[in-house]
Amino acid sequence: MEAIFRGENILEFIKAFPDDNKCREVIANEKWKNGYKCKRCLNTKFIQFEKHFTRECTKCRYKESATCGTLFHKVKFGIQKAFCIVFEMSCTTKGLSSTQTAKRYGITQKTSWMFMQKVKLAMKSSENHPMKGNVQVDEFVVGGKETGKQGRSFDSKKSKVACAIELTDDGKIKRGYANVINDFSAKSIKPLFDTHIDREAKIKTDKWTAYKIIAKDYNIVQEKSIPGKNFKEMHVVIQQIKSALRTIQTHVRKEHLQKYLDEYFYRLNRSIYKETIFDNLFKRLVSHKHYGWNQIVVIK
Ligand SMILES: [Zn+2]
Repeated sequence: MEAIFRGENILEFIKAFPDDNKCREVIANEKWKNGYKCKRCLNTKFIQFEKHFTRECTKCRYKESATCGTLFHKVKFGIQKAFCIVFEMSCTTKGLSSTQTAKRYGITQKTSWMFMQKVKLAMKSSENHPMKGNVQVDEFVVGGKETGKQGRSFDSKKSKVACAIELTDDGKIKRGYANVINDFSAKSIKPLFDTHIDREAKIKTDKWTAYKIIAKDYNIVQEKSIPGKNFKEMHVVIQQIKSALRTIQTHVRKEHLQKYLDEYFYRLNRSIYKETIFDNLFKRLVSHKHYGWNQIVVIK
């Protein structure tokens, strides 16, 4: 399938999607690209209405709008504005705050926050591409006063994160993933390995004891961490994440932190595919099932 848009030029973007109707049309094309099937009776014949690109089943008369069942469902502030927010979120390098977005599009902060949370949901890793090459793993804390790892104390109230990055052959940051974890135990850190790191990867960690346990299943070399000497790329990523979180808001609630991490790595992992990043994100929003307010607020 052709990309619905390429590049990062906002003027060309507005030309490509000049109004809500055009946006609904591309959603309908994407949603039914493999053919239409009535949700109620599975009939494949339909009548298409001009309004909202709604399709009506010729048999049972069930009507379905283009946005129904996608993350664009129930967007009441205008589908074109929603497209623009998705575009900006896909192009930004530092992350957008919901307050800033609300001002730019003349919507309330609550509305922009809600929609942006949905976009972040669509940025979650597919978990289909485990990292294979040179990988580094480390953990860090977010929120409150930063005073190092505090001996990785288990009673800290701060949010804890385990982070893995893959480096290119010449040592540059290639991609990465991170998980919010309950504590710094092997049990809490290991799911990051199992989901995102190949068993064959060459992994480097510091001397933390949890990695000794995980090393039974993975190819891990443990090296004493010396500030400014090693794990430099990892520290760059950690600093960027912390700085992005500071730009967005002073405090990200723990249950939403995973989505912010997913957003950071979604963009980092696609930094060499900037041309089609909007297209990729748009398709994810269309294929992702609809989430309402309650689901967004309670999901982890
Ligand atoms: Zn039907």
